Amino acid sequence: MKKQIKPEPFKIKMVEPINLIPKEERKKALERAGYNLFALKSNEVYIDLLTDSGTGAMSDNQWAGLMLGDESYAGSRNYFHLEETVKDIFNYDYTIPTHQGRGAEQVLFPLLIKEKGQYVLSNMHFDTTKAHVELAGGRARNFVIEESRDTTIYHPFKGNFDIEKMEGFIKDKGAENVAFIIITITCNSAGGQPVSMKNIKEVSEVAKKYGIRVFIDAARYAENAYFIKQREEGYADKSIKEIVQEMFSYAEGFTMSAKKDAIVNMGGLIGIKDNEDLYTQVRSRVVPLEGFPTYGGLSGRDMEALARGLKEGIELSYLEYRIGQVEYLGEQLREAGIPIQYPTGGHAVFVDAKKMLPHIPYYQFPAQALGNALYLESGVRGVEIGSFLLGRDPETGEQLESPFELLRLTIPRRVYTNNHMDFVAQGLIKIKDKAEELKGLEFTYEPEILRHFTARLKPVEG
Ligand SMILES: *Cc1c(COP(=O)(O)O)cnc(C)c1O
Repeated sequence: MKKQIKPEPFKIKMVEPINLIPKEERKKALERAGYNLFALKSNEVYIDLLTDSGTGAMSDNQWAGLMLGDESYAGSRNYFHLEETVKDIFNYDYTIPTHQGRGAEQVLFPLLIKEKGQYVLSNMHFDTTKAHVELAGGRARNFVIEESRDTTIYHPFKGNFDIEKMEGFIKDKGAENVAFIIITITCNSAGGQPVSMKNIKEVSEVAKKYGIRVFIDAARYAENAYFIKQREEGYADKSIKEIVQEMFSYAEGFTMSAKKDAIVNMGGLIGIKDNEDLYTQVRSRVVPLEGFPTYGGLSGRDMEALARGLKEGIELSYLEYRIGQVEYLGEQLREAGIPIQYPTGGHAVFVDAKKMLPHIPYYQFPAQALGNALYLESGVRGVEIGSFLLGRDPETGEQLESPFELLRLTIPRRVYTNNHMDFVAQGLIKIKDKAEELKGLEFTYEPEILRHFTARLKPVEG
């Protein structure tokens, strides 16, 4: 029995046709793509669950905002609307737009990492976040709780920091060798898993004790707030905005990819609570890297859509629908005995390919094999998060073994209906019944850097 869920809190005003090409053509497309879903053309994909980043559908109100773009180089009215919105939602004084999340990271991090080799601590760094820590001379370390590594056990906040472990690390390395702490909400790399308010507060208390600065990687701030409202004692009756304000009160600033919860196709932000000195430094650095501080790489019209998206992203009816849809897909898979990261997180369902395809070893990339099978079966594109993504040891050249072999089915915001989710689930259920026939993969071309984007593969013979 399917769980009864509330219908979408919107009706559809404009449609974009999608088309399931015949199976024979999908087979050819996959061969041409070297069994790498990144190399498909989007019109070869029926339901695209590659990412939730920049793939959301803007509202009529956001589209209307585009027409009110003020393209003044300095002091655009759309910037002031954005600044006002950030003040209203986060209670932060300073707002600097950037072209996307990594733009915010490249501006802010070098100001925080004062010496080469300093550590940056997180529950889990997102990949561009880690890259910008390293480019700035820092070393990224993750402290997410152990429970997040077991896909089968229920924990309401699998994105939490292991506070004891983090404090032990600070004592061991010395607080002066820690540049800052960055709390990733929700914890993308652990499966979009939320961080509790209690945990955010504890992180800030430990940081205060040692004089360490705290920032938030805020891409999915609204989804995190919704989970706190649903699952944490004492928050059921608070509004999403009240919860957001409390979360952000424990940090000094944030970097944000606005392509997620702010529901725009491109954009980012740096927010600073009240540290005028830091704001002044950011304002100087943003000019050569992103643009003048009142546009930061965005058009006036894009800032308007972003300001409006920030407000829509914290609406309760929207979040109920959003998180409900992810759960809806997850529950169907669970009922069919397909192993997933449980409970489902905010933006994606992660299918455990290690459990589903135990006959394929990590070095033959079980989650990639599963992703290819799903594309062949139903034209659905997911993405591998496992050993294929992880790559080789830079010193020995050995293929590393990822602790997870996951196929991520990432749900764009306000784009697909639950009928699409049913179709995705049916495809996976069909594959489950012939799982032992699936073959692993080997390289025919393997680039040295970021191989998962451009590598070519073929099924292992025999
Ligand atoms: C997407 C993302 C980023 C990077 O943002 P871009 O807009 O893709 O540059 C950083 N952190 C997290 C947690 C993200 O999900």
